[in-house]
Amino acid sequence: MRPSIDLDMLRRLAAEPEFGRFFQLAAAEGARVVDADGAALIQCIDDKRLEYRFFQGLPLRYEQLAVGFSFPDHQGTAGRALHEGVPIFTPDYAGSPQAMPAFVATGLQGNLVVPVGPRDDRRGVLAIAWFTKTPPLAPRPEALDIVLLIADLIYGAMYRQSLEHDLEQQARHDPLTGLPNRRHLYANLQRILAQTQGSPDGVAVAIIDLDGFKPVNDTFGHEAGDQVLQQLAARLKSGLRDGDLVARLGGDEFALILRKVPDRGTLEGLLERLCGALGMHYLIQGGTPVSCPASIGAALYPGHGEGAETLMRSADAAMYRAKRRRQTDTGAWEVHAAFDAEATSLPAPVRLPGRVEVHYQPVFDIQRAGATRFEALARLRRQGKLISPLEFLPGLGPRQRRHLFSAVMEAALEAQREWNCLGGHCVGVSVNIDPESLAEADIAKAIADALGAMQAQPAQLTLEILERGEFLSPDVTRRNLLEISALGVRLAIDDLGSAYSSLLRLRSLPIDEIKMDQTFVREIATRLQDIAFVHSVQNLASSLQVDLVVEGAESADVLNMLHVLGVREVQGYAIARPCPSDEVPELLHQLRAWTLPPHGNPLAAAYARQQMTESHVLGLLQIAPAHLSPALLDDAALDDLETALADVPDARRLHRQQRIILHDLVRHHDLDNRLPILRYRALGARLRRCLIAAMGAA
Ligand code: C2E
Ligand code: MG
Ligand code: MG
Repeated sequence: MRPSIDLDMLRRLAAEPEFGRFFQLAAAEGARVVDADGAALIQCIDDKRLEYRFFQGLPLRYEQLAVGFSFPDHQGTAGRALHEGVPIFTPDYAGSPQAMPAFVATGLQGNLVVPVGPRDDRRGVLAIAWFTKTPPLAPRPEALDIVLLIADLIYGAMYRQSLEHDLEQQARHDPLTGLPNRRHLYANLQRILAQTQGSPDGVAVAIIDLDGFKPVNDTFGHEAGDQVLQQLAARLKSGLRDGDLVARLGGDEFALILRKVPDRGTLEGLLERLCGALGMHYLIQGGTPVSCPASIGAALYPGHGEGAETLMRSADAAMYRAKRRRQTDTGAWEVHAAFDAEATSLPAPVRLPGRVEVHYQPVFDIQRAGATRFEALARLRRQGKLISPLEFLPGLGPRQRRHLFSAVMEAALEAQREWNCLGGHCVGVSVNIDPESLAEADIAKAIADALGAMQAQPAQLTLEILERGEFLSPDVTRRNLLEISALGVRLAIDDLGSAYSSLLRLRSLPIDEIKMDQTFVREIATRLQDIAFVHSVQNLASSLQVDLVVEGAESADVLNMLHVLGVREVQGYAIARPCPSDEVPELLHQLRAWTLPPHGNPLAAAYARQQMTESHVLGLLQIAPAHLSPALLDDAALDDLETALADVPDARRLHRQQRIILHDLVRHHDLDNRLPILRYRALGARLRRCLIAAMGAA
């Protein structure tokens, strides 16, 4: 019977994501079509060697002998197939000049060895083998074709696997030093701390920051700087014990996780050795020695922090103390480990009254129908219940708020990365920050570090600053804001209008966005006087060249009003309620089909449109009357209102009178118009009252 490939098997192969299982299926199929026992995959490894890696259907004694066995890649039938680039069939293995005696002894009778991968990317060979079955005199050409196809499929799977591996490496490693990055470190630290709980072995975290790195970079160039970092990485790595980990946090900052550190004495000994290694010169540009002092701070678990975050923060604080001490010290080459008497004064770990969970709510552009970013909103999980920020925020102290900010920012950046990776989206996140945290000395650095660790674009992060009172005035805050803005991070004033006057700040701070508080718009469809507020804040935003987000779009009516008013970005339940991160991709999908809901209140919407026309015309009358032309009168908008007012004859009359005046004003814009404008305004006030009454009655 003519051998043919099993289609069902092909389908299973195509659906198999895990390489080991993929190989099992593919090898079994290859062996089946030539009636052999099974097959092995012998992979090319470094140094021009081949190594047995995967087996299927072969006798245990053979597998035990071969697994992990490596040999020069020109040896054996495998070596020959690899070099000649063609399948080699050996029906009598024992009699072949390439036979390896140990394999003959396992009962290997014959094999068919096929190269895997094209000439310029050979990955290894597929070795199909006969043990209990008798090899044919020669494999049939159709069968050989199928084996070649299977070797190609195996190559495809290996290629995919190595790509995935590279991507995974890139996501978790720093390309310059090859060390794990901050993200990888955190994940490992969390795991290690969980494993350590209850055991007598402590875990230490050390943070190392070079003090003299910038001058090296500035004087000798970036290549020299890179060499220093690579040598530093190598020194840190060489001092590691089993189970320890070193990572590059970003820039010239590195961290170590040291396991099995039962007490402070042990840690001090380890740090001393580390200081010795870091005190040596670095060799750059083929041998020029440069020195680059470092400051080290360390913290020990248990004792100086509960979780990964607090432990890192304690180590960071110790590192800053070491840095300050270095600056006042004359021994410039000494590396200080700020883990001595000062360690006892480490701040107690920050605790929140529950576990932080973050929910996300979209900021949505209703004119373009697309989500721009998601606001991260904190919740605390306590005894199974989810507690709202309105409830827990007032009880938090400054350190707890700062802790909350970092936790929410990190979660948001991570979540954003996931959504964008998953769905090819490009949405940003915004995170709320309290003014006290903005006054802290290291806040800009903490933000830059988080962005670096998550490999996030700064412009994808917006900080929403909630201003209550005079908090934003101190100079430190101003400096921090300038620094954060210089990173490329967007800054927004949150809840504009809800508290103290924020307007003055807008003049002097690098603000990119204002968020108008929900109290203004929640009732805009019935409180028609609110239209003027929204409209004037829009004008303010546009003249300051900042974006405006209107919060509290709770109903279809409000959405319609905002749409008519030309508001672009809104946030509110009428678009979506805050939801957990894993629901965001589905939400983004649904929002793709978003359309403006139908008018619930056509009268209010028609009025809003008329108001837009009116404000436009009256504005021009005041500043550039010469530019007024009848074409600027949006008669369609005025007609709309007139039609909508069919059932409110009083209001319709007032509107008519207003319309006549407006037309006159435009036609005779060169005449003195103060009196007609006053009349127009008086009519407007009456019209609004009349409408509000009519809507209340309806
Ligand atoms: P906010 O920053 O103004 O956030 C918007 C709040 O309005 C959220 O309440 C959101 O759920 C709610 N909201 C959104 N759309 C609507 C709507 O259509 N109708 C109504 N009635 N409400 C809507 P949430 O999540 O309870 O947050 C309340 C406030 O807590 C936030 O106001 C913010 O000031 C603060 N907050 C939240 N997370 C954090 C945080 O991580 N750090 C700090 N410092 N403050 C936070
Ligand atoms: Mg906010
Ligand atoms: Mg707000």
